[in-house]
Amino acid sequence: MKALLIGEYKQGKVEESSYELVGFAKQFGLDAVMFFVADDGAEIKFDGKVYVADAGKYTEYNPDLHKALIEEVVNKENPDLIVFSHSSYGWDIAFRVAADLKVAAISEVVDFNKDEKTFIVPCCNSKFRREVKPKTDKVVVTLQGGAFQPVMEGSPQIEKIDLPEAKSNVEFLGFVEKEKTGVDLTSAEIIVSAGRGVGKKENVEIVKALADALGGELGASRPVVDAGWVDPSRQVGTTGQIVAPKLYIACGISGAIQHLAGMKKSNFIVAINKDKDAPISEVADVFVVADLLEFVPVLTEKLKK
Ligand code: FAD
Repeated sequence: MKALLIGEYKQGKVEESSYELVGFAKQFGLDAVMFFVADDGAEIKFDGKVYVADAGKYTEYNPDLHKALIEEVVNKENPDLIVFSHSSYGWDIAFRVAADLKVAAISEVVDFNKDEKTFIVPCCNSKFRREVKPKTDKVVVTLQGGAFQPVMEGSPQIEKIDLPEAKSNVEFLGFVEKEKTGVDLTSAEIIVSAGRGVGKKENVEIVKALADALGGELGASRPVVDAGWVDPSRQVGTTGQIVAPKLYIACGISGAIQHLAGMKKSNFIVAINKDKDAPISEVADVFVVADLLEFVPVLTEKLKK
């Protein structure tokens, strides 16, 4: 089975998520080629053929031109799978390519059954997974961040690609850095995070008291931030901050893939959850099955003493 992996190149660097696509291809033994719009001499680590279009000419972001370039590579390689990251770039371009090619598109893939050619995607707020079978032979997919281990190795055989006739009605003006406000969790050595399991805004204080007792920072899962209980700068995960402290304590956090991708590289992970089957137990060094509203205040008091 052949896969075309659509790498991302942003602000002069290959995005690490590109290597998760390589990890996906390796995990399932796919015959893979890559595509990038990148500068000459861009550092790409891949053991195989990489089609590279000039970022100077096509700019790092232009959905019309990048789509046309990708379709040109599809014509040359005839892949079974066209694989994007589930990123703003992937969301924008994957479905344009699928619509043009009139093929199935499946987003947020976290697993693959190669024999059945079915794709596993989360549903119901990641509480369940569903298995999706495309109706077309060729399929466009986007991979959920953190679902596959990145693989960064080898030297690519570069093949330049150019489409002199390609036109676009949009012009890329540049990236605008998000204003940095609030706390920088990436430099914290200890993070204690509150999840939806805290139940209500007032209970976040229980988790914050533990963070304070340990001299750490308060973090949060996305639902807690979305509910307005904690400042967005404290969100951990794919759409928050990616952290790797010495100690990460997750209080009432289930362990959805988007949260795990933001904290699983922590040195030591403690999770407190009243559900003994919560997926966070798979990454936790210490897993406490308890009601956090009872357990955390006792732990905080002991630590203070
Ligand atoms: P839940 O999944 O609801 O889990 C709550 C947990 O608390 C449960 O395991 C429950 O057993 C436990 N619990 C309940 N009461 C108690 C109690 N009294 N004591 C102890 N345990 C208790 N999420 C992020 O966190 N960060 C991101 O950056 C992020 N980005 C996303 C990006 C996209 C594109 C999408 C689609 C989703 C994203 N999410 C992100 C959301 C993610 O999918 C999950 O919905 C979210 O992480 C769940 O948060 P949670 O674990 O706090 O809540």
